[in-house]
Amino acid sequence: MVEPIRMSTREEREQWLKEAHYNVFQLKAEQVYIDLLTDSGTGSMTDRQWSAMMLGDESYAGAKSFYRFEQTVQRILGMKYVIPTHQGRAAENVLFSYLVKAGDVIPGNAHFDTTKGHIEARHAHAIDVTTDDAKDTQKEVPFKGNVSLEKLEKVLKENPGKVPFMVLTVTNNTVGGQPVSMNNIKETCALCHRYDVPVVMDSARFAENAYFIKMREPGYADKTIKEIVREMYEQADAATMSAKKDAIVNMGGFIATNRKDWYDGAKSFCIPFEGYVTYGGLNGRDMEAIAVGLDENTEFDMLHTRVHQVRHLAEKLDEYGIPYQRPAGGHAIFVDADKVLTHVPKEEFPAQTLTCELYLEAGIRACEIGYMLADRDPDTHENRFGGLDLLRLAIPRRVYTDNHMDVVAAALKNVYDRRESVTRGVAIEWEAPLMRHFTVQLKRLG
Ligand SMILES: *Cc1c(COP(=O)(O)O)cnc(C)c1O
Repeated sequence: MVEPIRMSTREEREQWLKEAHYNVFQLKAEQVYIDLLTDSGTGSMTDRQWSAMMLGDESYAGAKSFYRFEQTVQRILGMKYVIPTHQGRAAENVLFSYLVKAGDVIPGNAHFDTTKGHIEARHAHAIDVTTDDAKDTQKEVPFKGNVSLEKLEKVLKENPGKVPFMVLTVTNNTVGGQPVSMNNIKETCALCHRYDVPVVMDSARFAENAYFIKMREPGYADKTIKEIVREMYEQADAATMSAKKDAIVNMGGFIATNRKDWYDGAKSFCIPFEGYVTYGGLNGRDMEAIAVGLDENTEFDMLHTRVHQVRHLAEKLDEYGIPYQRPAGGHAIFVDADKVLTHVPKEEFPAQTLTCELYLEAGIRACEIGYMLADRDPDTHENRFGGLDLLRLAIPRRVYTDNHMDVVAAALKNVYDRRESVTRGVAIEWEAPLMRHFTVQLKRLG
């Protein structure tokens, strides 16, 4: 599919951004020239996926499409029980409704925003146990998404009986699409299991994670992506999946588990929230597209091409000296906004400000993964400034060419060259109590 895109003028963009309350989520897509807001549901499907959709069986219960989808998930992840859901957060909602109680503690390597939201909305606590390597954007280590075993063990030791599961996110989106090594997956799962704590893999980019294991971890160069994926999931107890990422569909998700008790427990929440257990919020044709997408995107060539495009953008930024989370991750480049807009105080949200500047510069829509997204502490209601403040350039799969990446890099260079002149950021005028970054309304200071 090919879509025309249109270049706008700076005056138009100034007006549109103001109307959007300086929050790029509130822009209209047609006001955007190159859209790197997210890689979620924005990929292009293949000929095989489109033709599989024509075989969609829309029976309410027991559709052929469900069984094809179920068998594919079982074959690729090696897990027994599969519940379809309409996207990743719906999988979290269904599974966590069964597993999470008020007061629970759920450690994880930088919980994704909806994962954290589903935990905190149930008055439980999400505790980040990512390795400290991830905090230093300039440090080059191969597996920056890893879990710190010391941090994890401390949480497990201090909260006996209060940890219903641990969330292991592959790749670690929040710290920059950084992979988790097979060794770390194995050690993390073994540690949790010693404390009788099960592990849920938040699996949105599991195939990209497997790709990095193949390319970077000793002993995996000769294994296929599918073999590596099976080995990853042998360690875990369950998976929640946003099929909008590594299954390359526009909408979809699922829960997979080996535990009959979890399957039975989650099933009873699937029906009221998502629908009957053989469709879970999906059309038969959607399940067909997911099945083909999972199969295709666990092949090396597809992943190799994708990760190379991300690296192409990184190399351009290297040329211009723009600091980002190193090394380049699997699905996006995360620019270190704190190191770019050094005059904007953190209370004025540097990464959010950089998002505005990049849009004004060239109509490019990126996404803040920083202090705005971090929300307020549920107990103290203070802004959480403890993490990184990043501008994410997420690259949709199979949509843009390397030429588009060159335009993005050039626009960012222009902003970078005038960074000293940006001294003020944004202030919050209205915010939601949870996951505020989607709907927050801001004003520009200065
Ligand atoms: C996108 C994502 C989710 C949520 O999935 P949706 O399909 O957007 O609901 C959960 N975890 C991670 C790591 C993600 O990237």
